[in-house]
Amino acid sequence: MAFQNVTIAGTGVLGSQIAYQTALNGFNVTAYDRNPDTAKKRVSALKTSYQNDLGLSDDEFNAGLSRLSFTADLAEAVKDADYVIEALPENLEIKEEFYKQLSKLAPEKTIFAGNSSTMVPSQLVKFVDRPAKFLHMHFANKIWKCNVAEIMGTEQTDPAVFQEVVDFAHAIKMVPIPLHKEQPGYVLNSLLIPFVISAMALWVKGVADPQTVDKDWMISTGSPVGPFMMLDDVGLRTVWNIVTNLYESRHQEIFKVIADRLKEMIDAGHEGLESGQGFYHYPNPEFADPDFLKK
Ligand code: NAD
Repeated sequence: MAFQNVTIAGTGVLGSQIAYQTALNGFNVTAYDRNPDTAKKRVSALKTSYQNDLGLSDDEFNAGLSRLSFTADLAEAVKDADYVIEALPENLEIKEEFYKQLSKLAPEKTIFAGNSSTMVPSQLVKFVDRPAKFLHMHFANKIWKCNVAEIMGTEQTDPAVFQEVVDFAHAIKMVPIPLHKEQPGYVLNSLLIPFVISAMALWVKGVADPQTVDKDWMISTGSPVGPFMMLDDVGLRTVWNIVTNLYESRHQEIFKVIADRLKEMIDAGHEGLESGQGFYHYPNPEFADPDFLKK
């Protein structure tokens, strides 16, 4: 493996997971964040999930932690980095400023990857000094079990760099998903967003209620989840944001109708799984009834 020293820039929800998963698999990891104390707490808080889902012992979890260091100093964080993964907030100005600084501070050997969910690499490559060594490596939340890494470059990305990142994905126990062309939403969101929008269109048009839509999907396809179960899991505030952005970019009335209905639910405190109610009631949702798919 060509990489030894990996820096994760921005260790919030996703960055903390990437940092720990990388350290657990034997790499020296530097976590760069403007708030390193919070970052440290966030990584430590992953212990329960790693123990419950992967069966790690205390010693195994601590061995991962021992390969991780935290800093708010970017120059220090990247001085010997082979690979930097950026997981800063989804904000173009913050990312622009970061990549310009990083280009000045990182050694020539360093490969840069972004983890943005909604931007494509050609939007960010203009801020780096090494387009051949820049691409996106996009992870899913809960990376220790939802372990895919969507890898997408620009036309300028060196194929050898792309391959090194594919090898790195294997080394940290991800399943690499190489994309041969730039695509907003990568593979998963290219499939998922039209799917959940179609489900919500059936609901707001009054064709069928959410539980009926989920039942049809689950019984017909054998899938263990329906679209409205997924939406509750994601949280309706995030879903509202996505639908509102679609309305602003495409001006189709159906997006506005869906956004308004979601807003009514959010205003009533029904924000999905986390708030105890969304399309279903928690902690004992209707779909947990053994007869849910039988009637
Ligand atoms: P987040 O807000 O949880 O974390 C961002 C972190 O960056 C925070 O720890 C914050 O302290 C730090 N930060 C903010 N500004 C900074 C600066 N100027 N310098 C240094 N540190 C700074 O965000 P997140 O949800 O982890 O998302 C990060 C990126 O990952 C985004 O591009 C997002 O699209 C992508 N992503 C998120 C998810 C997800 O489910 N949350 C999934 C896939 C990809």
